[in-house]
Amino acid sequence: MKIIIIGGGIGGLTTALCLHKAGFEVKVFESVREVKPLGVGINTLPHSVRVLTNLGLQDIIAQNAIETTDLAYFNKFGQPFWSEPRGRFAGYKWPQFSVHRGTLQMILFEEAKRVLGADAIVANHHLGSFEQNEKEVIAHFVNRETGEPMHTETGEVLIGADGINSVVRQQLYPNEGPPVYSENVLYRGTTRMKPFLNGTTMVMIGHMGQKMVVYPIDPTPDENGDYLINWVGNLREGKSKLTARDWNREADKARLVDIYKEWTFDWLNVPAMIDGAKAVYEFPMSDRNPLDRWTFGRATLLGDAAHPMYPIGSNGASQAILDADYLTECLLKYNNPLEALEAYDRERVPAAAKVVLQNRAKGPDQIMDRMEERFPNGFSEEEIPHAELEEVMDHYKKVAGFDVQTLNKKG
Ligand SMILES: Cc1cc2nc3c(=O)[nH]c(=O)nc-3n(C[C@H](O)[C@H](O)[C@H](O)COP(=O)(O)OP(=O)(O)OC[C@H]3O[C@@H](n4cnc5c(N)ncnc54)[C@H](O)[C@@H]3O)c2cc1C
Repeated sequence: MKIIIIGGGIGGLTTALCLHKAGFEVKVFESVREVKPLGVGINTLPHSVRVLTNLGLQDIIAQNAIETTDLAYFNKFGQPFWSEPRGRFAGYKWPQFSVHRGTLQMILFEEAKRVLGADAIVANHHLGSFEQNEKEVIAHFVNRETGEPMHTETGEVLIGADGINSVVRQQLYPNEGPPVYSENVLYRGTTRMKPFLNGTTMVMIGHMGQKMVVYPIDPTPDENGDYLINWVGNLREGKSKLTARDWNREADKARLVDIYKEWTFDWLNVPAMIDGAKAVYEFPMSDRNPLDRWTFGRATLLGDAAHPMYPIGSNGASQAILDADYLTECLLKYNNPLEALEAYDRERVPAAAKVVLQNRAKGPDQIMDRMEERFPNGFSEEEIPHAELEEVMDHYKKVAGFDVQTLNKKG
């Protein structure tokens, strides 16, 4: 069976590797002229690292990523109120990795070229539209700049892994309109600096109105002993600040330094960290309303094309990888691709919708707002509602499919 994948991001490439391993013929078409290591940090949680491990990629990712040992929450004064071990340190069979998105994408890209052959990963091919009949699906590619037709490809299944601005989704849901803006803007950067806390901790500081997420993403220090630290500021900017949905749009660094100027803790100097970044990128925190179905005959959606979500709870890339794994399982199980895509839809549409909606409801980070609302001027150790915070954190893990007992039963 020949499968056409639209989009060579983390979702599309993982799908290609999973399907190839299962014996399917796969071809990936990527819009950009050249695949480059873009973006900043992302996380892969144990449930998705399980899939990457089964593809034989755990070692190479580990060499290029930080194995996250713990996740810690602090208020805006730098006071700690929650900490938990992560990945193998929490008893999972698989680690949690914090990694540069571009590094992970290039690992997947190189591996896909190696095992599928370079001809199976085709850059500079932008999907314009597709059509299908009883036997096949036909993808029409165009020149991205001019819209001129340039190539047609025929297969038995088409997977739209073409991101938040998916052309496949747009064709399936022509009236949907743009993503839903949360009135929050994300400010993303990386800074070379000395490690903080134990050097492998991921931290969340503040509350949803003004938040900062910080974690290291590269295990190799430079000649000064500095590590690459990823950070993402979240500011509630309101309707007025809807920036373009362009992952590479630069923001005003000086403004951000000023907003965070008070956040100088004895364990981390946030304004200095922001100031030390070469560039700061801004992206509107957006998602899309969950769909009732992703599958229409021989075409389906995967990853951000299917379920773009707020980057809360470190689940964006991981859920795309889970889609890849389950879709492969369905295509192996059913001889008929139509039945396979229906089965994929039945399982993954509601599962991903729950994560999208949980993230809208602030996911695990709702503990930050609870602490801010209750203790806007700080708290004493005895006042921390440990049991309540634990309940929120456990619930999210179950919804997102990574509670330790359930996951460890899988091979
Ligand atoms: C350049 C870039 C930078 C990013 N940086 C970050 C980051 O720093 N932090 C973070 O949390 N998330 C980032 N993301 C999003 C993150 O990668 C995804 O949320 C997650 O990994 C799910 O991946 P995906 O493969 O579904 O979608 P994406 O990673 O968005 O990949 C979609 C791919 O499809 C391609 N494509 C789009 N339209 C077409 C078309 N019509 N025809 C062919 N190909 C098409 C795109 O070029 C892209 O390579 C970034 C995405 C991109 C594209």
